[in-house]
Amino acid sequence: MTEAKTADFYHRRAGTLAIPRDAFIDGAFRPALSGAVFDNVNPATGEAIGTVAACDAPDVDLAVAAARRVFDAGTWSRAAPEERKAVMLRLADLVRAHTEELAVLESIDSGKTIRDCLHEIGNEVPTFFQWYGELIDKTFGKVAPTAESAVAMIVKEPIGVVGLVLPWNFPLLMAAWKLGPALAAGCSVVLKPAEQTPLTALRLAELAMEAGLPSGVLNVVPGFGETAGAAIGRHMDIDAVSFTGSTEVGAYFLRYSSESNLKPVGLEMGGKSPFLVLDDATIDDDLVNFAVTAAFWNGGQNCSANMRQIVDRRVRDDFLSRVLERVKAIRLGDPLDPATDLGSMVSAEHQARVLGYIDKGKAEGARVAFGGDAVKGQAGYFVGPTVFDDVAPEMTIAREEIFGPVLGLITVTSVEEAIRIARDTEYGLHASVFTRDIGKAFRVARALPCGTVSVNAFSEGDVKTPFGGYKRSGSLARDNGAEAMDQYTQTKTIWINAA
Ligand code: NAD
Repeated sequence: MTEAKTADFYHRRAGTLAIPRDAFIDGAFRPALSGAVFDNVNPATGEAIGTVAACDAPDVDLAVAAARRVFDAGTWSRAAPEERKAVMLRLADLVRAHTEELAVLESIDSGKTIRDCLHEIGNEVPTFFQWYGELIDKTFGKVAPTAESAVAMIVKEPIGVVGLVLPWNFPLLMAAWKLGPALAAGCSVVLKPAEQTPLTALRLAELAMEAGLPSGVLNVVPGFGETAGAAIGRHMDIDAVSFTGSTEVGAYFLRYSSESNLKPVGLEMGGKSPFLVLDDATIDDDLVNFAVTAAFWNGGQNCSANMRQIVDRRVRDDFLSRVLERVKAIRLGDPLDPATDLGSMVSAEHQARVLGYIDKGKAEGARVAFGGDAVKGQAGYFVGPTVFDDVAPEMTIAREEIFGPVLGLITVTSVEEAIRIARDTEYGLHASVFTRDIGKAFRVARALPCGTVSVNAFSEGDVKTPFGGYKRSGSLARDNGAEAMDQYTQTKTIWINAA
């Protein structure tokens, strides 16, 4: 008989896991050259999981040298498309086969619920390796129109050694978003996971070797931003960087580039995304589910969280009462319990930051409709779901990214006002709009300067659709879709005089 997968089951599973601790460079685990380590804490308990290698510039140098050697050798970068595809499909299968192990590792490392981890790692992560793997032998170059005396080919080539610098909110998924296209392009990679969540990327590197990825193609250097992250940004032999994280740190990467080798930098950064409910929207279960998910999924630690919920006054009472009903039912607690909806914040610092924003909301006059307090009697770094009503667009909580489980309701009286407030932000990542009028939906979708607009849904798209930000949410780079390949390829013209 198979054992029921309860909290007890996952706790026991956590106890049996091999916890990665070293960097993964040139096909092998090794400590940082300096021997330095940092403590890795389970944020749901505050207890130490173990220590992890604190990599710095010399470790990044070693990783880049390995990545360059294998790139120049062509073992991966010039391997037959079918060969690279086969490795990536095997990697997808290995992730599927190790879903439970990876999900438990990710949950104890991040405080994310086991339910979300199982879903992301069992479904989404392998899809990225599979989809980009499948793309490899289906992507063609171009032949330009010329006189018959010439043939002009336009071909794509891997950009070289790329640095991938990642955030902590979706540790393995963000790794897959970038690794899928980078490996498919034929690049070699130096990947730095966030210091809060280094574990699953390290285990993934081992699985990638098992899948047949040559040594040196994927190197993982855990460590801090100011050391390992900056060393990647400033490295003279890294050809491109793809970064996901805060807008503040994204700006550092532009500076690192300008002060080193002018490497292109792809940036996916913060957001303050709006959720618009127009006067004709039907306030049904679907809409309410989307509203709650948009604000509270992953504890609100989501770059495209729709914290600013801009609702027409004709439907706002109904909207608020139905949202509150759902929010009251959110189960906060042990992330390893499959019944838990809301796990812990990623760290003590982040918990304090989110609580600081909740205090600011109160101080600036927003009305707490639900929650608003620290969670008492709970070990670990938890913040309960909070709903603010009477939020004014100029309040701090309506302008700055909170990255926590907070929903803010802004009441408006017209579509024009909703659009004006939705646009009034320095960010431009995502927006949702709810209406039954297709004309209004298009108008709003066109009017909002952001990378993704969802109509009658809270959806960031999927592997096939590009994801990225306007304004201070991103650069021109996009993750996902065929567009993501642009971050990892160069375009070459080969002009042949055939006369
Ligand atoms: P962060 O910017 O603090 O850290 C991101 C990465 O940068 C980490 O690996 C960190 O170690 C590194 N880093 C930090 N300081 C650095 C420095 N001085 N030099 C070089 N590297 C440095 O972001 P975070 O707190 O890990 O993640 C939360 C942020 O990420 C939020 O703003 C969120 O909106 C954003 N995010 C965006 C997307 C997207 O696709 N647009 C997706 C997820 C998260």
